[in-house]
Amino acid sequence: MPIQSRNPSTGEIVKNFTAHTDSQVDVMIGESLAAHKVLTAMGFETRAAMLRNAADILEAEAERFGAIMTLEMGKTLKAATAEAKKCAIGARYYADNAEMLLADDSVETGAAKSYRKYLPLGPVLAVMPWNYPFWQAIRFAAPALMAGNTGLLKHASNVPQCALAIEDIFIRAGFPKGAFQTLLIGSDKVERVLRDDRVKAATLTGSERAGASVAAICGQEIKPVVLELGGSDPFIVMPSADLDLAVKLGTKARTQNNGQSCIAAKRFIIHADIYDDFRARLKASFEALIVGDPMLAQTDIGPLVNADALIEVTEQTADAVNCGANLISGGLPKGSGAGEHDGYYFTPGILENIPRHARVYYEEIFGPVALLFKVDTIDAAITLANDTPFGLGSAIFSANKTEQERAINEIEAGATFVNSMTTSHPAMPFGGVKRSGFGRELGAEGIRAFCNVKTVSISSIEK
Ligand code: NAP
Repeated sequence: MPIQSRNPSTGEIVKNFTAHTDSQVDVMIGESLAAHKVLTAMGFETRAAMLRNAADILEAEAERFGAIMTLEMGKTLKAATAEAKKCAIGARYYADNAEMLLADDSVETGAAKSYRKYLPLGPVLAVMPWNYPFWQAIRFAAPALMAGNTGLLKHASNVPQCALAIEDIFIRAGFPKGAFQTLLIGSDKVERVLRDDRVKAATLTGSERAGASVAAICGQEIKPVVLELGGSDPFIVMPSADLDLAVKLGTKARTQNNGQSCIAAKRFIIHADIYDDFRARLKASFEALIVGDPMLAQTDIGPLVNADALIEVTEQTADAVNCGANLISGGLPKGSGAGEHDGYYFTPGILENIPRHARVYYEEIFGPVALLFKVDTIDAAITLANDTPFGLGSAIFSANKTEQERAINEIEAGATFVNSMTTSHPAMPFGGVKRSGFGRELGAEGIRAFCNVKTVSISSIEK
């Protein structure tokens, strides 16, 4: 894939970038290792001060960063600006809390003194996707840098301007040379970086195919890896739910980021008693959304990221219809479609009566199409919620405590949100089970993921 910015609103190539050569990458890995030693010696307070500078830059220039995101991947400018501001919040959280999260942790063993100590590993390769081009990178970088690790970002090939802007933020914030660098490389060069002894660990957010490849190489190299992959999150609505809230958040959860979010609500599992009401309200809510130029304030949904995405979502929707599903709203390319300069717009769609052999039943649909299912009981809702290869997020809308508890305990997912939509928060672990990946970002688990959790036992302290 060429490293280039192509505007999804028009399909036009905005800028081409020259990839770093192997020897340039080798030098950058060397700088990363050197910076790791400098960063570790600095201590928490100094690192925190630099990260707060980065947060200040992110906040002060949120709209400028937002415009770069919108240009390269098509999310609305308002969502992109909010993303930059969320990055500032995330960075401040780790500046304020990393020392506490990584403090020596005393354990009673009978020795004079024993404790866990969290030590950084060194350079970490972060392979990141385009869909939240700032947040994905910052949610890795903030805890990693606070722990004393350094970051080598291999961003998606379609967001090089975002990747370079993020590197620039850390330089301007005062981080030592090499602490956070963007490698402009294609995915075919990831293996070479992973096999470099100086690179100690990897994290990948993206597709199963990419995750499996990176994990296999890390397995051969005996290096830790975190995988954040796709999802097909259930969104259960039971009769006692606040339907206004469920429809409002269901619409947002399915269509945020132009429908291209790993934790989007993708499968709406609705109790039969309220199915018709929910269906009618969701349809009205989807049809009120404004699809158009992502730079305009009134736009709710911009284009999909590229022509391949538009074709894929269109084909998955058509396949469901061919298999017997009903398309009750939208679900088609908008305007003349994937033409060279038309932009990659897609009207949000709703499918129901989806048979089990349709692709969307077991695949992730990475675009604004809601899948509606009708169930008679909470048992059926949970069984259906778990009938997927994925296990990332989940949500249940219900005022019934037993139903809430059952969802929390029985849904196979990395997160369950009750009466709200799935989101990420810097203080809470984020990740999945099943084919959604393993390991966690964010929270205590996230910052410790790239630490050597050293067991320290001191039998006698004095001579
Ligand atoms: P992708 O094609 O897997 O790309 C993600 C990153 O992996 C890019 O940097 C890409 O580089 C790289 N890559 C691709 N193939 C690779 C390979 N064989 N070896 C090494 N690196 C490789 O995924 P995407 O289409 O950009 O992102 C969408 C997917 O990400 C969805 O499934 C979504 O659910 C998932 N996602 C998950 C989370 C989460 O937290 N769980 C969050 C966001 C997105 P190139 O661009 O150069 O190909």
